[in-house]
Amino acid sequence: TEPLLKVKGLKKYFPIRQGVLGKVSGQVKAVDDVSFYVNEGETLGIVGESGCGKSTTGRMLMRLLEPTEGSIEFDGKLLSDLSKEEMRKARREIQMVFQDPYASLNPRHSIGKILEEPLVVHGIGDVKERKKKVNEFLEIVGLSSYHARRYPHQFSGGQRQRIGIARALMTNPKLIIADEPVSALDVSIQAQVLNLMQDLQKDLKLTYIFIAHDLGVVRHISDRVGVMYLGKMVELADSESLYSKPLHPYSKALLSAVPVPDPNFTREQILITGDIPSPSNPPAGCTFHTRCPFKMDICSKTVPVLKEVEKGHSVACHLYNEQGQQ
Ligand code: SF4
Ligand code: MG
Repeated sequence: TEPLLKVKGLKKYFPIRQGVLGKVSGQVKAVDDVSFYVNEGETLGIVGESGCGKSTTGRMLMRLLEPTEGSIEFDGKLLSDLSKEEMRKARREIQMVFQDPYASLNPRHSIGKILEEPLVVHGIGDVKERKKKVNEFLEIVGLSSYHARRYPHQFSGGQRQRIGIARALMTNPKLIIADEPVSALDVSIQAQVLNLMQDLQKDLKLTYIFIAHDLGVVRHISDRVGVMYLGKMVELADSESLYSKPLHPYSKALLSAVPVPDPNFTREQILITGDIPSPSNPPAGCTFHTRCPFKMDICSKTVPVLKEVEKGHSVACHLYNEQGQQ
């Protein structure tokens, strides 16, 4: 069967201006030629440091941002080809869960009103049906219907994220884009929210794109994982091969920071130094070459392309050339 979502050659370039209205003096390649697919019912994790383009990618999928180039195909249709009416429907079917639930909930609105809003916007149900659905979804995310009368400040961080998840579910979406949904939560609460999301995925047959800044968080929830660096996808693989045999030096470095549960298993430890370069002035060739311990001559000259080197495992790095050398 066809993937639910197919993204091809997606780019988002932002102009750099001198002053707010000044002359354009360059551009930031926030997302630079990214392609991937997500099958129905699976979770694709997208991981990278801040500024790597993962949130911008999520926002383009939500149509909160217009791509500079590239195509997004959802449920067999190109988003750019949709009529207004079809776009409204697509918006119902793709929803987002945000990093900071508090910032994304209107403090002056009751939880009931917040959860009802997407139904009102999309013209779903009458007042009575909407109220019923609000109560139903509060319970689905582990809260009670009496919470509908309360306000966001009366909830803990974990409860607020449950509310954010409930809001995303109100329109019966197929795809949820979760942008660092647990990063702002205490570690003890993170697992509860992740478990809830996994249960909901099974019960409601949801497809997830789960964005995170470290590989530890997405490990258990993801079927496949993509690693992004400075606007590019540098590795894309099923979770098992990525975690057991990461290929890209950047993925290896990210994984070096994740504790290994099995003491008999040792992983190659790669430490990278230095900060992520400015996306407005990225290094030539492989954009990771300024931090890569394996840098070769070719690395600062030629951009490595993402290619499949093992079944279902793609990497963009000159270490893995046609001969399959390492
Ligand atoms: Fe390192 Fe070169 Fe591979 Fe880039 S292409 S990750 S610099 S070895
Ligand atoms: Mg972000």
